Amino acid sequence: MKTYNIALMPGDGIGTEIINEALKVLDSVPKDFKLNFKEYLIGGIAVDKASNPLPQDSLEGAKNSDAILFGAIGGEKWDKLERDLRPESGLLRLRKELGIYANVRPVRIYNALLDSSPLKKNIIENVDLVIIRELISGIYFGEPRAKEKDRAYNTMAYTKNEIERIAKYAFDLANKRNKKLCCVDKANVLETSQLWREVVSEMAKDYDDVKLSFMYVDNASMQLIVNPKQFDVILTENLFGDILSDEASVISGSIGLLSSASIGENIALFEPIHGSAPDIAGQNLANPIATILSASMMLEHLGETKTAKIINNAIDSVLKDGYKTKDLAKDSKDFCSCSKMGDLIVKYIKEQNG
Ligand code: NAD
Repeated sequence: MKTYNIALMPGDGIGTEIINEALKVLDSVPKDFKLNFKEYLIGGIAVDKASNPLPQDSLEGAKNSDAILFGAIGGEKWDKLERDLRPESGLLRLRKELGIYANVRPVRIYNALLDSSPLKKNIIENVDLVIIRELISGIYFGEPRAKEKDRAYNTMAYTKNEIERIAKYAFDLANKRNKKLCCVDKANVLETSQLWREVVSEMAKDYDDVKLSFMYVDNASMQLIVNPKQFDVILTENLFGDILSDEASVISGSIGLLSSASIGENIALFEPIHGSAPDIAGQNLANPIATILSASMMLEHLGETKTAKIINNAIDSVLKDGYKTKDLAKDSKDFCSCSKMGDLIVKYIKEQNG
């Protein structure tokens, strides 16, 4: 039987809780292949146990796997450490070392959750967009960078090759979807954005069917809330994509619903877009759906589309039947725990697939 080796990286905060639910679902879903899991340390827990937010063994394990399923990292406890020792550095290094340049963040609306979003129904109904965020360059990685006593600076830098690589991914995706690509930048101020515009405009000549537009990031952050239906694929650089995708989570109702795939030439990593949510960690309150959807994206990436669809259908049905975790239930006391949501998704998978 076909076997995939999956590196599991639960990380910190709610990481273990949400990964456990994804594992339950992956375990229960009917499949004609095997998933072989191996767990690795990353983030704050890796700092505590191995004095390194990305131990060599974890990096090697990730590199030698077919895919990585990741929870979340970070927490106040490690915030005062020097930069290289902080949990976030572990994740940034992992992304860079794996070369996972394309971060794919779909924003989908569940009709059953139209009331969970603070936005009006008529604005969010039928929204279906994907944010493509460049993940391993830009200001998070640029040199020089420093924090001095009275001055600090970072560098936002992009090469033509880096822009072409991510833009190709976005054009190809738009071509398969509704053929609209909006490149979000700050070309009125930033030279890096001006280069993005030149490169992306040039590439558009090879994609006759894709309607390309450009939008400044300040306007885009407003348009995402005022009229999100106008977007199909949004292409943007690292920092803008990080911020815009958190904003976009408001459209769907909760950050606990947004999954992501980070794709490189040889390997891909799957994780919810949210962080380690220290405020609810250890209380069985997290929404595990973003992580379960990330696991489903992982199966799709591995070519196991049928199995991924079974998981997605079960999530649709659970939500349709009115089950909500606390983040979605607003002020209502009628909500299910993280583990209960996982159990329900497993139950629906079993019921719907005999
Ligand atoms: P966060 O995403 O962890 O939390 C923001 C808010 O959303 C919190 O109120 C939290 O309770 C809520 N939330 C997040 N995920 C949820 C879920 N699944 N279900 C229900 N509610 C959820 O962002 P933050 O508070 O700014 O950061 C906390 C820590 O996470 C920091 O250390 C930060 O650096 C780290 N972080 C990690 C990642 C990652 O691992 N990829 C991403 C972002 C932030």
